[in-house]
Order: sequence, then C-alpha cells, then structure tokens
Amino acid sequence: MPEAHGMHEMHKVHGTGAVHETREAAAVHDTREPGTREPDPCVIALDVGGTGMKGALLDRDLRPLATLRRPTPRDAGPDAVVDAIAATLELLSRRAGEQGVTVLRAGVVVPGIVDEERARAVFSANLGWRDLPMRALLEQRCGLPVTLGHDVRACGSAEAELGAARGARDVLFVAIGTGIAAAVISDGRPVRAGGHAGELGHLVVEPDGAPCGCGARGCLETVASAAAVAGAFTARSGRSVDGADQVAALLALGDPNAEAVWRRATEALADALAIATTLLAPELIVLGGGLAEAGELLLTPVRAALAERLTFQRQPAVVRAALGDEAGCLGAGLHAWHALTDATLPRELTGGATR
Ligand SMILES: [Zn+2]
Repeated sequence: MPEAHGMHEMHKVHGTGAVHETREAAAVHDTREPGTREPDPCVIALDVGGTGMKGALLDRDLRPLATLRRPTPRDAGPDAVVDAIAATLELLSRRAGEQGVTVLRAGVVVPGIVDEERARAVFSANLGWRDLPMRALLEQRCGLPVTLGHDVRACGSAEAELGAARGARDVLFVAIGTGIAAAVISDGRPVRAGGHAGELGHLVVEPDGAPCGCGARGCLETVASAAAVAGAFTARSGRSVDGADQVAALLALGDPNAEAVWRRATEALADALAIATTLLAPELIVLGGGLAEAGELLLTPVRAALAERLTFQRQPAVVRAALGDEAGCLGAGLHAWHALTDATLPRELTGGATR
C-alpha cells in the first residue's frame, strides 16, 4: 500500500541517513495568502533502487511537498519494474494535483549503466533491463517530460550541490552498499562517458580473489561492499549477521573476526582510492552508502591507509556523505530542475552536464 508522507526537509536530514517518516497523510504547510493562490511549481523526483523506490514532490528549493516509498517489484521482471515506475510517477502526479501543485517535470534515477545523453537504461544486473529507452517509455506512459539519470551520479550531484562536497570542484563520491560504485566530478562537471564511468567497485584489488558478478575475480566489490563484509565475517566466524552494520558494532566491541574483516575491507578500499586519486586527484572523497553509516570506524582507517599509499599526490580529504539515503531522490530532483533551467541556456554554458 503506497503512502505519501508529509515530512521534513530531506536535505537537512544529515548524519544518520535515516529519514524519520510518519504515518500521517501528506500535510503541506501552505504559507501563501488565502485567495491569492497560484499553483506552485514542483518536480517529481524518483530514486529507483534494487529493493525499493523513493519518490518525492520537490519544490524549487528541493523541499519535499510529499514523499512516497514503494517496493521495487524486481522479481516480477523488468517490464513490471517499468510499470511500477510509471505508476509511481502517476501517483505522485495525482498527489500534486490534490495539493494544487503544478508538476513541471520528473527526474528519475535508476541503477546500472545509464546513458543520460541518450536517456536509455543500458544495463542493470539487478533489475534485468538491457538498453531500454526508459525516458521515452515513461514519457509515453505519464505524459510528463522526464529526465533520466544514474542513481550514484545523482547522489554525487546532490552531495556536490547540497551536501558534503559543496563548493568542491574535484570530487569522488563512493557509494558502498550491496555493491560499490562511484560518481566522478572533475573540474566541476560530472564524468559520465556514456554511462560507463565510475565503476570503482570493479577495480581488481585481489588478483585470483573471489569471483565477482561482473565476471572478473577479486574486484573491490567482492571485498569491501557492505554485503562482502557481512559475508566475510560469517565465513570467518561461523556467525551469521544481518548486515555490515552488525560487523561494525562488533568491531567497536573489539571482536577479532570483525577487526580482521574490517581491516581487509578498508585496506582494499584504500588501494582503490589510491588509484582513483592518482588518476583524478579529487580534493575530496565522499563515502556514502550503507557501509559509511559506520562513520569514523570506516573513515579513520581508510584515511590512514590512503595516506600510507600516496607519496607525491594531492592528499584528498575523506569525509562521510551528508545526505544519507535521500541523496538519490534529491539528485533526481536536481536533475529535473536543472533540465528546466538549462533548456533556456545555450548548451555550451551548461555542458549538458545535468541532463
Ligand atoms: Zn567485478
């Protein structure tokens, strides 16, 4: 049962990454004078994940007028997922109508390989699609202009504009969750390369290591993702855990198995970040995703291990993401607002950077 919630300003929900949601119906605090009501414009923002979708109506200041969470029907196949995305956009669109708010555009971000220029969802191992003209499909279904983006690059954009990387021009945002992926911002612009840039999780850190879903062995993802950390802990200790957060909790208690697994993961992360730093020289590395919820338990050893590996390179600051799990939805909203703004500017001024 989908529910829309009135909620707080998402981009101010820092630290825990958890958004407090109430079970109340969306209540929009309307400060306009009665009798002089022009419908406010907003955009729909939708972050499609492997297990759930997070949607919102966002005003120009990215304040949520309503939010919505629904499951992603992954097991029902890619067509069902596209249907569910379209249905969610329609639901949010109706919600806007009920609130007297005009929807100007929808920003939708999805995982996998996403070609923003061609507005196609090129590949998703998780959601099963191959070269899907996602924007066209959703526009046909919803009658709304849609901007298609990539979930991790959207998080990177949101952190750069609103979060931990505000004001920085050279940024590496790394999402460490079930998998690992990065968003590269270089000279103030996102690096996309047809959707193929940023696959940090598939740098090989342990040659002849465990097989990775991508077909290679010993990828960073097989050692340092939240899923890998939990799996490695169970393999080592014989003790099953719900997730990497439990391993972090045991680490804080001095559990030797947790320490060993954590050290291996943070060393591998530092190996990959050293390569990225040598190549891209970010001034700032922002760690997000589930594993970053561990805070300094993750940041401190990663900083130290990265510093050990760098010699002449510019030492980047390593910080935790500020926007938590709302970053993707905020990034989707930013993409939509930028698309509206950029449409009125010559392309060379914007570089098409956020479309
Ligand atoms: Zn791989």
